Amino acid sequence: MTSSDPAYIGADMLDTIVIGAGMAGIACAQALTEAGRQVLILDKGRGIGGRMATRRVTSAWGTMRFDHGAQYFTVGHPAFAAMLASLPGAVAAWDAAGQRDRQRYVGTPGMAGLPRAMAEGLDVRQGVEATALRPRAEGWEVVTLDHRFAAARVVLTVPAPQVAALIGVNHPLSLMLAAVEMAPCLTLMAAFPAHSPAPFISLRSENGPLAWIAQDSTKPTRPEFATAWVAQANPDWSVAYLEEDQDSIVARMLPLLCDSIGTAPEYALYSAAHRWRYARVTVPLGRPFLQDAGSRLYLGGDWCLGPRVEAAWQSGTAIAHNILELETV
Ligand SMILES: Cc1cc2nc3c(=O)[nH]c(=O)nc-3n(C[C@H](O)[C@H](O)[C@H](O)COP(=O)(O)OP(=O)(O)OC[C@H]3O[C@@H](n4cnc5c(N)ncnc54)[C@H](O)[C@@H]3O)c2cc1C
Repeated sequence: MTSSDPAYIGADMLDTIVIGAGMAGIACAQALTEAGRQVLILDKGRGIGGRMATRRVTSAWGTMRFDHGAQYFTVGHPAFAAMLASLPGAVAAWDAAGQRDRQRYVGTPGMAGLPRAMAEGLDVRQGVEATALRPRAEGWEVVTLDHRFAAARVVLTVPAPQVAALIGVNHPLSLMLAAVEMAPCLTLMAAFPAHSPAPFISLRSENGPLAWIAQDSTKPTRPEFATAWVAQANPDWSVAYLEEDQDSIVARMLPLLCDSIGTAPEYALYSAAHRWRYARVTVPLGRPFLQDAGSRLYLGGDWCLGPRVEAAWQSGTAIAHNILELETV
């Protein structure tokens, strides 16, 4: 310990600390808690859900919501379906999106509503950034800006490129992450008066700068007084303008959106941009998680299996099952 080290929280060693309150971390903590384990979740963000994110905007016309991260999710695994069925008020089918090969689902009243409902009853500390993990004789010390926590095991569910900063570039698990790749995504949120041009519900493009455009206000339980759109730039375009300030990103993306939907930027009631530095997994690990069994350190997240909400849930759940089946204490 150095004199500049932050203070310890709690004299006792916790059973498990999960770092990251996105779908993977919440799924893991949920399963461990149901089995009677004592779990603390730390997240540096202000809200629960990570990339299952909803921006709530209060305006003179009412409250608008934009899902500026994950747009929808699909369901394949029966256990994922069963978990969703246990939270009927937090998830709904996005029927307006039309018949697809797989049903699209969204969180309600915004995408973040689902992870928030899953986190009900869990001990989540928001606005707490882990800055380092240090091995102890038994377990780990998690250092944050203000405190230090001790736990028998740590489950780290941050995006793969952010793992090395916490456990060190030379840690064997960091080296195993070298092949994983994640791409950024610049996202535009824009609202227009109700009954503005709305030629489609969602549009995917292979060629244009906007890879995805969706009319968010067609999702169930979203307000109808405005037509709310979310547009996502493709990875190359996002890389090119990643470091620009938000106003410049809006100035570039809003005219592109307006061209696509047949309106003009001056009619926008609201517009804002969000920069996802690690948005989409382009090269996943190919297995549900990584572990250092000796030190009880687990790494998980969507980057293990693919860029999907369900993949993140699978990863977090698989970690919990591994802990419960193979670790006795
Ligand atoms: C723009 C965009 C569009 C997408 N579209 C879809 C889609 O249509 N369908 C779909 O299925 N998926 C989509 N995804 C992917 C989906 O959102 C992710 O796969 C999933 O939400 C990832 O969950 P996770 O728990 O692995 O990671 P995250 O949600 O990223 O959670 C990680 C958490 O760790 C926290 N954290 C990071 N570092 C620290 C630290 N040092 N200390 C404390 N906390 C920390 C973060 O704040 C975050 O909350 C999209 C993602 C983006 C960004």
